Amino acid sequence: MTGSMKPYYDRIYKGSMRSFLAGLEARIESGQGSFVVTANPEIFMMGKKHRQMDRALLDEHTMIVPDGIGIIRGGKTLGYRFEERIPGVEICEALLKYADEHHKSLYLFGAEKTVLEALVLRIRREYSGIVLAGSTDGYVKDRDRVFREITERQPDIVLVALGTPAQELLIYRYFSPERPGLYMGVGGSFDVLSGLKKRAPAFFIKYNLEWLYRITREPKRLKRFWDSNVRFLFEIRKEKHGNQRENR
Ligand code: UDP
Repeated sequence: MTGSMKPYYDRIYKGSMRSFLAGLEARIESGQGSFVVTANPEIFMMGKKHRQMDRALLDEHTMIVPDGIGIIRGGKTLGYRFEERIPGVEICEALLKYADEHHKSLYLFGAEKTVLEALVLRIRREYSGIVLAGSTDGYVKDRDRVFREITERQPDIVLVALGTPAQELLIYRYFSPERPGLYMGVGGSFDVLSGLKKRAPAFFIKYNLEWLYRITREPKRLKRFWDSNVRFLFEIRKEKHGNQRENR
């Protein structure tokens, strides 16, 4: 990694989930476009390696929320304070409720076909007020073609579940703040929202151990966890101690 994480931290939303959602809803109502990045250490590490991800994170129109506990911990080390963690999957749930109540249109892009079908079914049953603008699974060949179609339809909300960094880079390529629509990369959230995969039990969520639960369920995540989270906190410490030496 080269360079400081502070420019990213300066741009993260530090307030409550509630006020963030209120802001998003106001933007949807006024037809303003939004691009939300739910940050975890992996995304920030990516930003330091890939120029386009770095640009996306530093773009004044990109809204970043602290999704992972690693982001909050690292931020504390560097002197940043957050009111609370804002998990992407909870933003999704709140947006579904809002879209249902206000008859907003929604496009779902990503995840496996069976997952997507289960989610569409759930939305039709439980959120019948939502206008489904369309849905495409995440294993199509031409993602750009799908995205061009989405931007032409201009849905109020577009959730993209292709995994990081593909989802963020794709959204950033097509996003324009002048066009209406809230665009958000949601990683594995469709798997949870569809009901096919359980989110961690309340205990793990309460004690910020959701990451541990995910590793125990999917051990192949361990390497990813090590490569991003553990190295991230190590780099953050280095950054802090480097700054302390400079200030002496
Ligand atoms: N996915 C996809 N197309 C791909 C690769 C992944 O649609 O080519 C989906 C996958 O089915 C899953 C999501 O992207 O629903 C990524 O989930 P993961 O839990 O890895 O994301 P995270 O939340 O950890 O970033």
